[in-house]
Amino acid sequence: MPGGVNSPVRAFKSVGGQPIFMDSVKGSHMWDIDGNEYIDYVGSWGPAIIGHADDEVLEALAETMKKGTSFGSPCLLESVLAEMVISAVPSIEMVRFVNSGTEACMGVLRLARTFTGREKLIKFEGCYHGHADPFLVKAGSGVATLGLPDSPGVPKATTSGTLTAPYNDIAAVESLFNSNEGEIAAIILEPAVGNSGFITPKPDFLEAIRRLTKENGALLIFDEVMTGFRLSYGGAQEYFGITPDLTTLGKVIGGGLPVGAYGGRREIMEMVAPAGPMYQAGTLSGNPLAMTAGIQTLKRLKAPGTYEYLDRITRELVQGILNAGKKTGHAICGGHIRGMFGFFFTEGPVHNFDDAKKSDAAKFVRFYQGMLREGVYFAPSQFEAGFTSLAHSPEDIQKTVAAAENVLSKI
Ligand code: PMP
Repeated sequence: MPGGVNSPVRAFKSVGGQPIFMDSVKGSHMWDIDGNEYIDYVGSWGPAIIGHADDEVLEALAETMKKGTSFGSPCLLESVLAEMVISAVPSIEMVRFVNSGTEACMGVLRLARTFTGREKLIKFEGCYHGHADPFLVKAGSGVATLGLPDSPGVPKATTSGTLTAPYNDIAAVESLFNSNEGEIAAIILEPAVGNSGFITPKPDFLEAIRRLTKENGALLIFDEVMTGFRLSYGGAQEYFGITPDLTTLGKVIGGGLPVGAYGGRREIMEMVAPAGPMYQAGTLSGNPLAMTAGIQTLKRLKAPGTYEYLDRITRELVQGILNAGKKTGHAICGGHIRGMFGFFFTEGPVHNFDDAKKSDAAKFVRFYQGMLREGVYFAPSQFEAGFTSLAHSPEDIQKTVAAAENVLSKI
């Protein structure tokens, strides 16, 4: 396997050393193949919001499995999860399930282009929308303005319609609309960023983006693969009170099995085959096991008090780490919304990817390795958000903060 992993961020390239091979997970904890135990803040990169290997999810999966693992024809579980998603997420009137966040973003872009008859797309520097060609354009000087691809193997033609702007920069978006009048199909963004570390939108940013897309006849796409059912039951759009035209989901709605989804207003979604002309398909889409894990996960999240709990423990965690950092003389900033958080080794504030890159990467490596030795597993990169779950106990948080204080006093 290239680099020993099946997804690059699992490798320890930016923190040094070898990736840890896990043997099992339960609740908020993971055990590696040498028997070491960790408090986990990666949560399988987002899905594990009710805790790993939850008993009810496992039981439901076992029941479903007795009936088979894949039908290749419609099943009722798809309708159940579709109804749950539609009733939860404000922008979604119809939904299509796929197998990953990447697929969801690919589909939604094709749909926005179909609906508007336009080709150009605005994305933000440091936002990740899966690994499909048109999204692999990062920000930065000539690369941004020329729409040059980030990765070899991505043809220029597939990214020439991708325009980029710094996150939280409304003027940059206005200027892109002005210089590409009538050509922009959509803006896609993470409504709270998790892929350049954790970055929140400024108070008027999402509102301005909503207004600008409407004024210019472009669609607004919230990529909620990470934030969906995490910032609140209705996702970031419910949390911030801004309704996009289209939304992508993944992670939580599959409860740890491979899943993705895109959805939005009926008149747009009816362009998707077989209702409409836009082709998109998938052998395993709507898989009964993924649907089952998603349904059970959403049922648990819907119970009263879940997001308040996530908010409380995550605030304690982040405040604890920030206080420990300040006490031990480090420049540090950070924040959280409900069960999503992050921190940077810089004074801040961090409003975009360039700000995030000011974080002291070498210090992060020392912090990361120290925390691993203390039995705390954070994402092995400064540019990833952290995740808590309903299974994280106040003791987990206290232990983590104590470990952070210990590590920060030595680095
Ligand atoms: N969009 C966002 C916002 C993501 O965070 C991710 C994955 N981290 C994706 C898309 C791609 O999802 P997947 O890895 O399931 O293809």
